[in-house]
Amino acid sequence: MEYFGKVFRPPSEASSLIIQCTIGCSHNQCTFCSMYKEDTFQLRGLEDILADIEEMSRYGYVYRKVFLGDGDALILPMKSLRMILNKINELFPSLERIGIYASPKSIATKTTEELKELKNLGLGIVYLGLESGSEEILKKVKKGSSAEEILTLSKRIKDAGITLSVTLISGLGGKELSKKHATQSAAIVSKMAPDYLGLLTLMQEPGTELDREIRGGSFELLSPEEVLEETRLFISLVEGKNILFRSNHASNYLALGGNLDEDRQKLLEIIDLALGTKKGLRQEAHRAL
Ligand code: SF4
Repeated sequence: MEYFGKVFRPPSEASSLIIQCTIGCSHNQCTFCSMYKEDTFQLRGLEDILADIEEMSRYGYVYRKVFLGDGDALILPMKSLRMILNKINELFPSLERIGIYASPKSIATKTTEELKELKNLGLGIVYLGLESGSEEILKKVKKGSSAEEILTLSKRIKDAGITLSVTLISGLGGKELSKKHATQSAAIVSKMAPDYLGLLTLMQEPGTELDREIRGGSFELLSPEEVLEETRLFISLVEGKNILFRSNHASNYLALGGNLDEDRQKLLEIIDLALGTKKGLRQEAHRAL
């Protein structure tokens, strides 16, 4: 099986079989993102996808999870997704879960009923980038959807009974909008009530529009301490029960993990300790996407 371009997957899909269904990201305009800049978005041919699944089944590996890549595989037509999921179920009968990246645009192409059908065919988790709850920030970074739109569309995933994993990016508003980023993200996430919430930290990716803004002086990156202050404010405000929170990605300065609300106090204490002692923070040179 051959992959085309760079293939990305969420950290929790590290041991999954990745079946590439699309190449690149259907949006590909976010100013901070360098992930698929070299790829022109395209759907892979259904015959090729099914052939990949058949080929991988012949090796006899026992996979617990399959991840449908790339950036936005939920955008495939229902007919294709049905055939792909059926083929996976047929050839990997001991599978526990199938995961997929979704964008607001791709969720909008599916009704709740269709999402329920996908859930019954094994689609167990959808990964969705909210990035920020601030409309101003989402507009600036050219996310292509408003926070309210993402909130509305995310409800379809939850209503279909599919696990929802949402990502935010610390520092996305820069110094100027850091407080808004924290407070407005907390407000939207509280309404969204995802099952999982992952916090990445903004990185300056060469060649992106944001990189040019930083070098031109119109966007100021947060210091590690300011990122922690922002995270502290977000955690202190977000309301939710049983949101599994993680900021243990390679881009994060401080690894955090816990259950919101249950572990809120513990998380805040860990941040305060790191702010007070300046210890336990990942070095800039060791950060990565
Ligand atoms: S952040 Fe996500 S939606 Fe935006 S360009 Fe990158 S992959 Fe596409």
